[in-house]
Amino acid sequence: MENCIFCKIANKEIPGKIVYEDDLCLAFLDLSQTTNGHTLVVPKTHYQNILDVDKEVLSHLIKVTKKLTNQIITNLDAKGANVLTNANEVAGQTVMHFHIHIIPRYNETDQIKIDFTDRSQEVDLDNIFNIVNILFYCLFTLQDMLASL
Ligand code: 5GP
Ligand code: ZN
Repeated sequence: MENCIFCKIANKEIPGKIVYEDDLCLAFLDLSQTTNGHTLVVPKTHYQNILDVDKEVLSHLIKVTKKLTNQIITNLDAKGANVLTNANEVAGQTVMHFHIHIIPRYNETDQIKIDFTDRSQEVDLDNIFNIVNILFYCLFTLQDMLASL
């Protein structure tokens, strides 16, 4: 896609520190280096994010991500990693080409903070469960109906 920075890195139109590449994807160091070794795994084909990526491509990317995460942890002597993807601006996505972040973790004072606020006392979990469940039920029933046509 025109004017997409990650398409340009994938097509070698602009440089990237590429640490892995195959037919479907590549992985390169994130410029920001939130922690040392911060890496992005990116499909060569342009998809906006996890919400529209082809499921075969996604499955390949996850396998590559697992392998690379283990390698990065070993090579950099990290203690673990955050593996995450942002979908749409509201979730912090700034580059609209699907990518998975591998962020190696060294200790609790790393310069990355992922904080899950505990809202369990404020919400009605049964109500949320029912809403989510009904939506899934409708979606899968519709998919089954369409598949049988
Ligand atoms: P997002 O916020 O969309 O999940 O993450 C986008 C990431 O891409 C950011 O962590 C940012 O540092 C990284 N990034 C943005 N532009 C470039 C670039 O030109 N090259 C590389 N290697 N990383 C980039
Ligand atoms: Zn792109």
